[in-house]
Amino acid sequence: MNNLQNKIFIRTIFVFTIIFSFLFSKNTFSQNKKTEKPQKNITKKQLEKDIAKIKEANIPKSIIVIDAGHGGEDPGKPKGKTVFKHEKDLNLSIALKLGKYITQNIPNAEVLYVRTGDRTVSLADRMDFANSKKADLFVSIHCNSNPSPQINGTEIHVYGSPLDASVKLAEIMKKEFTEKVKRKFRGIIHNKERGHNLYVLQYAEMPSVLVECGYMSNPEEEKFLNNEKSQNIIASAIYRSIKTYLQIPNIREQEKQKSVFKVQLMATDKPLPAESKRFAELEEKVEIIETDGKYRYKYLIGNEYTQEGAEALAKKVEKLGFKGAFVVQVE
Ligand SMILES: [Zn+2]
Repeated sequence: MNNLQNKIFIRTIFVFTIIFSFLFSKNTFSQNKKTEKPQKNITKKQLEKDIAKIKEANIPKSIIVIDAGHGGEDPGKPKGKTVFKHEKDLNLSIALKLGKYITQNIPNAEVLYVRTGDRTVSLADRMDFANSKKADLFVSIHCNSNPSPQINGTEIHVYGSPLDASVKLAEIMKKEFTEKVKRKFRGIIHNKERGHNLYVLQYAEMPSVLVECGYMSNPEEEKFLNNEKSQNIIASAIYRSIKTYLQIPNIREQEKQKSVFKVQLMATDKPLPAESKRFAELEEKVEIIETDGKYRYKYLIGNEYTQEGAEALAKKVEKLGFKGAFVVQVE
């Protein structure tokens, strides 16, 4: 390069630098302007909306199974007056409203319904559906009844220890129901007091709760449960609880760590199907595991949180002919 070429080169670089820096600064300036402009007009309401969106963005992709209790041939608790609905219909109505709230307001959540119409579904099928979809959460909707018409209020049933994700969700729901719905909250009810419908919670492989929205046997509460506006209040309280729950970091992992107690019924050298007549009298689903050794097919039932619970189950199956059934702990 001679002197002249050198000069031209330096000048060219100089001119380009000026043009580029001008373009760049103009660009940043206009960008600043763009972001500044709407900020001036932002209302408190918009701001709250934006904050809510940011929070939602932290919610990981989640599959939520909504189970409207009973259905089809099983009406649940029958209606009181003719103008009212059977439990199965109230449950479905609240379940669909809940699903709509979640779908509309939590972009990362996918809602799957056990039923969207008046259909008979067994308890085992409800649980198998949620487990096969690898759901992150299972919420079962029911309405209660009691021989005493005075009894009223909401109950939440869970199956697990106080550290479990299910119980955390139930605690959030308790707060929502007490503070927002402002109706009597009867409490969070643990596995020991469970009835037959809580089978779904015991065998669910994900955090799960069963909400008994209110007592159909209480005349005032039955009226409340049949009112569309009240159903919206109940559904939105459950929706808000789920949204808060999903924002807890790594919440799903907390549930996975629990160990459970099961009952080993027997062991055989040749495999026996779970549908075998040998197990016909059992209420619980039989799990078959294959291990080493001669009697390598082992048959387990139960999914008990406490050793005590598993021992009670072992005693029950001994009476059904499974002599020598014993408790095993499964991680
Ligand atoms: Zn029910």
